Amino acid sequence: MIKENLEKIKSELPEHVQLIAVSKTKPEADILEAYNAGHRDFGENKVQEMTDKHASLPGDIQWHMIGHVQRNKVKYMAPFVHLIHGVDSLRLLKEIDKQGRKNDRVINCLLQVHIAKEESKFGLDEEELKALLDSESFREMKHVNIRGLMGMATFTENNDVIKSEFTYLKNLFDSLKQKQEQWPHLNMEILSMGMSGDYHLAVECGSNMVRIGSSIFGERNYH
Ligand SMILES: *Cc1c(COP(=O)(O)O)cnc(C)c1O
Repeated sequence: MIKENLEKIKSELPEHVQLIAVSKTKPEADILEAYNAGHRDFGENKVQEMTDKHASLPGDIQWHMIGHVQRNKVKYMAPFVHLIHGVDSLRLLKEIDKQGRKNDRVINCLLQVHIAKEESKFGLDEEELKALLDSESFREMKHVNIRGLMGMATFTENNDVIKSEFTYLKNLFDSLKQKQEQWPHLNMEILSMGMSGDYHLAVECGSNMVRIGSSIFGERNYH
């Protein structure tokens, strides 16, 4: 079914929207099935799990860290991670820059913005985001590239709420993009929003990267 699910979702998505298959908690066999169907971009939310899967699966997979990242775990994924979606503090970004330097690479990041009503969700507010960009330490970084923004909408049936949150993030993305020359290594290209339950709305609101798990791999079992 994984191949069929992937193909169905891809056929529905506009050309300019990239699909990240969220494989967290799923076995390697499931990832290989998607891989054999031609898919290369996978998302995980735990560094340890992503590192293990990276070690045993094909080397041309592009690994996306979509979860909340602890600073002491950055070193494990720094050699290979393709894009870190959940950067939500200057301290974390500093650590990513440091590990990028050690590995002689520039690490692609998205800044996560808090758009949901739930306090439990992570992310910067607009003020914190601007403070991060304006900071001296951000200017000095040489091993990170901020490629865009990521956000998660409130978990609700109310589409108006979701829509207003996604629209807010899209507007913030556009306004930063307009003046991105003000900052070094800020390249607003990616707007990562939309999951299984809300990706149609997200795309309508301007998302160009969706992170989809259960609609591809089936429901997750947490034990
Ligand atoms: C798990 C997860 C997803 C995918 O969720 P589904 O509802 O299974 O599509 C997307 N983004 C993040 C940040 C996640 O943690």
